[in-house]
Amino acid sequence: MRKPRKAGGGSQRHGEQPSPDAGPGTPSQVSPYHLFGDADEVTRFRASLLSWYDQAKRDLPWRRRAAGELDLDRRAYSVWVSEIMLQQTQVATVIGYYTRWMQKWPTLQDLAGASLEEVNQLWAGLGYYSRGRRLQEGARKVVEELGGHVPRTANMLQKLLPGVGRYTAGAIASIAFGQVTGVVDGNVTRVLCRVRAIGADPRSPSVTQHLWSLAQQLVDPARPGDFNQAAMELGATVCTPRGPLCPKCPVRGFCQAQKRVEKVQAAVSRRLLGSPEQEKTLEVEECGLLASLWEFPSVPAEGTESVQRRALVKALQTWVRGPLPLRSLRCLGEVVHVFSHIRQTYVVYSLALEEQPQGLLPSGARWVSRAEFQAAAVSTAMKKVLQLFEGQPSGHRKASSKSPQDPATSGPGPGPGRQCRQLTLGAFFKPTSAP
Ligand code: SF4
Repeated sequence: MRKPRKAGGGSQRHGEQPSPDAGPGTPSQVSPYHLFGDADEVTRFRASLLSWYDQAKRDLPWRRRAAGELDLDRRAYSVWVSEIMLQQTQVATVIGYYTRWMQKWPTLQDLAGASLEEVNQLWAGLGYYSRGRRLQEGARKVVEELGGHVPRTANMLQKLLPGVGRYTAGAIASIAFGQVTGVVDGNVTRVLCRVRAIGADPRSPSVTQHLWSLAQQLVDPARPGDFNQAAMELGATVCTPRGPLCPKCPVRGFCQAQKRVEKVQAAVSRRLLGSPEQEKTLEVEECGLLASLWEFPSVPAEGTESVQRRALVKALQTWVRGPLPLRSLRCLGEVVHVFSHIRQTYVVYSLALEEQPQGLLPSGARWVSRAEFQAAAVSTAMKKVLQLFEGQPSGHRKASSKSPQDPATSGPGPGPGRQCRQLTLGAFFKPTSAP
């Protein structure tokens, strides 16, 4: 496994090897770093989160209402309304709307009997009016077609109710009916990505799938609704997008991102004290951050640009047999990526090749096409690196070669404007079947 470094080109995977027929986006196995190790760890995580939630949860009208409502359909309705309103709207704004809504239509039957005009009127100012319309359509469906009973499972809720997606269905089923089903919204995504140090794009299918399976693994079987709300509450109030309150976090002891920060801070302290262990500590920890992801080959970027170039050329020559067109090695600039509260800088180099070089790739590496790269499990940082490469205007390049062989001005590629862009990505990322 290789750690993310600061200079790159090509593509290399972190972590487990995929099976021979698996693409780069389908690692055969998720790194243990992104999983919860054992049942005991899961139990302790649940207990820490729930005990914090019991003390710190916000007093919100939908929580009060759901907790005090014995009738399951009424309880589901009260959760359903809140979840729909909370989509794309802040809690503080929703409180007033929710209170007015429930006063006007305390039951599904009341809402089913309302006119669309009344619904729109009460919804005015909340935005995304289709949410209110769908809510009312759902109420009518429950009353007219389902005997007044809200479907009792996440699957059936998602299947039968308009406007109810996977997250909302899971939230209603777990909070109102106690179904043991995990949920993943934006807040839960952030918490899980930090807790398990998942640096890949959370919108990618493989990461989304992993997050849902983590949520399902973690949800407390005795208090699924509370657990899901606790995870969301943590993301909303403690593990915030910027400036997370780690010292106050109840799951700090389980958080890989936090552990990494502590180790980096310890390494910095050792460096200040002149300890030689510094590099080793950083390397071990960085291995985990982006485990199981593909990344461009990289070397540590130390010193001046000429020192960096020498280190990069040396590495390239250990990977590729035969001569390399080093004249086309370009420094494109820097990509800064902030993962959680960790800041990493990549100095990006490109090397245009006319054909796939002969030679042995490092263990676990392979050439990929642009399409394979887009479909692969790669970190957001690597996507930024590629964006820098693809969007690099000539004026921003540090290299100034204008020779006829300059890949910026020759070779296949689009017509107008091609002289301003690096055109040889197809040559850089060749599929393994390419000659
Ligand atoms: S320790 Fe910090 S980064 Fe980790 S889950 Fe808690 S608030 Fe988020």
